[in-house]
Amino acid sequence: MKPDAPRHLRSRLGYGLICLVFGAALVYQFVRTSQMASEIAALTDTMGAATAELTADLHSLRTTVTQTNTTLIAALNNQQQNVGNIQQQLGSVQSQVGNVTGTVSTLQKLSQTDPELLKKYSKVYFLNENYVPARLTEIPNAYEYSSKKQLLYQTDALPYLEKMINDASSSGVTIYVDSAYRSFDEQKALKGDYKMTYGAGTANSFSADQGYSEHQLGTAVDLIPPGLGGALDDSFDGTKAYTWLAANAYKYGFELSYPKDNSYYVYEPWHWRFVGKKLANDLHNQGKNFYDLDQRVIDTYLASIFD
Ligand SMILES: [Zn+2]
Repeated sequence: MKPDAPRHLRSRLGYGLICLVFGAALVYQFVRTSQMASEIAALTDTMGAATAELTADLHSLRTTVTQTNTTLIAALNNQQQNVGNIQQQLGSVQSQVGNVTGTVSTLQKLSQTDPELLKKYSKVYFLNENYVPARLTEIPNAYEYSSKKQLLYQTDALPYLEKMINDASSSGVTIYVDSAYRSFDEQKALKGDYKMTYGAGTANSFSADQGYSEHQLGTAVDLIPPGLGGALDDSFDGTKAYTWLAANAYKYGFELSYPKDNSYYVYEPWHWRFVGKKLANDLHNQGKNFYDLDQRVIDTYLASIFD
């Protein structure tokens, strides 16, 4: 080039070069930006797909958990129902065992209880002349009106008699036992004496014939308070002893066998018979007399007479 080449040509060349470089940079930048944009778009797509996949997985997991829960709850309910059924069956078996045990214990008690103890004996009902209670115990002297007589009483019923007299005493009411067990022969002798003294007609009105007396059972007693001079008559029902007995004797298992205006015997306010708490209580509550009940009804109380 000539040293004097026009300066403006050189500067134009330089300018064009700069423009070219700048244009190339712009193109590169454009290409690079486009590439990045497409990479971002691809990345966004990938992330979208991954998110969708995760969402689907999560949904599937939730469904599985829900299904598993439902299955477990159903299984648990089923088990609970089974346990309930088993408990019900067990309860039924236990109640059956209880019933059998109850029946066995009732039968045992019945086999050990004198069947005569709750039979009706009076003018109408006859007690075997050979009958003697299997268990008799002497009543302690403290309870006897006269220490001259040795009184016997049915062994199992004696604690009830003693408790009744003790409780009466605690309430300020003194009661003694004047007569208790009498054998067939004793009753026969007694009746014979009465007939001699009062004549047969009069004696029959207040003294049972042998075999018809509750005293032969060993569970009947003639009670007497002090102050009557040892005599037993209708005036007994005007005593504190009678008032207390009428209000309380049933609690100890005693009933008044021959109450006022009964149709089977003379009135004997002093004569009390042990029939067991349950029967005495029912008689008291229902206002009934022992001899008014049907024997079959009375028999249902035999097993529980000493309860
Ligand atoms: Zn009597």
